[in-house]
This record gives sequence, structure tokens and C-alpha cells, in this order.
Amino acid sequence: MTDEARLRADIAEVGRRLYARGLVAGAEGNVSVRLGERLLMTPAGVCKGYLTAEQIVATDLAGRPENGRPSTEAPMHTAVYRQRSDVSAVVHAHPPTATGCAVAGVRLDEPYLAEAVATLGSVCIVPYRPPGSAELAASVADAVAEAETILLAHHGALTVGTDVFRAWERMETLEHVARVRLVVRLLGGGAPPLPADEVERLIAQGVAAGYLPDRSN
Ligand SMILES: [Zn+2]
Repeated sequence: MTDEARLRADIAEVGRRLYARGLVAGAEGNVSVRLGERLLMTPAGVCKGYLTAEQIVATDLAGRPENGRPSTEAPMHTAVYRQRSDVSAVVHAHPPTATGCAVAGVRLDEPYLAEAVATLGSVCIVPYRPPGSAELAASVADAVAEAETILLAHHGALTVGTDVFRAWERMETLEHVARVRLVVRLLGGGAPPLPADEVERLIAQGVAAGYLPDRSN
């Protein structure tokens, strides 16, 4: 199997997982990977649960397609790759609990879950910009300089990774963190987040395990 064939199969697999877990509905969401000077990207208007490897669109680094019609969020993906040379995959989805928390103003960047601190990295939120717009792409590019996981106000979330499974894993963890946060709130919990020295230790663990980039220098 060539690298391209394997990556196309990986994107289709991630699409199935996103749909199966309810992190996208209908034809929502989009996934891309970088392969040298090209991108492989999910097509516009196709349900990710039933995506085939052949439907995936190849583009250049500016998002210009070699064939077919790439995701309408192509500008957001290309902006991420321009900003982060260490990123090889981008997942955009509409995880319902995480998106709901963002709409309700509930922060998801507070360190409550030990393993999420080590794998998710910091979670930031960018203000609302219209989906597919250059303004949204620019906001995401700024945010991704400092974070691997980004909430898009009134919209959804975007995660990045060194490969497509790492980016997908982060999206699923984000939704898990949001659900736990919701339960804590429902139970009226007022437990404090993890202390700063433990957060620092967990982040160092995440960096050592290759989950997080080393931003210490
Ligand atoms: Zn979206």
C-alpha cells in the first residue's frame, strides 16, 4: 500500500469513528492530512460515516483541488498547516457537549482530568466567525500557535496532531472532558481543579510521551 492509499484509508476510518460517536451529524465535519506538498481532505457534503477512500480529495497546500470539491472549511485547514510545520493532520467536528459548554461559557481549559491534561494540551476558544470564512481561518491560525485543541464559538471544535489518529483521539478526549465537566456541574460539584505543580508534571509527561509539543523554550 502506498503512503497515499494508507492515509486515504486512515481518513475514512477516522470519519467513521467521528460519526459513530456522534461527534458530527449529517454531512458535518472535515478531516485532512498533509502528505509532502499536498493535502488529502474530506470532500464537501459527504457524510463522514460512509466516506470511501476514493472520495477523498487531493489538493495543494493552498487547498486548490486536483479533482473534486474539497471541504468548504479548506481555508481553516490550510491556515493550520501554514502556522504549524509539526502538524500533519487536522480534524474539525461538532462535538455536542464540548460545543454546548462553549456556547454556555463553561471553560474546558481548567485541569480536572489528569490524563486529559497530558494528552489534550491547552484548550482555547476563538470568537464566532462564519463557517468557511477567511476570518475564521485567520482566528484559528492564531490560536493553533499556542494550542492543539480549539473550540470555535457557536460552531464546534478543531484538533490537530502529528497524525490523523492523534488528532481524532484529541477530539474524542475533548468531548469526554466536556461530559465529565457537565456531570460535575449537574452534581453541583465545586471540587477545585488539579494544583499547578501537578498540572506542570502532567504536561511534562505529555511532552515526553510525544502527545504535546515542547513549548518550554
Ligand atoms: Zn463546522
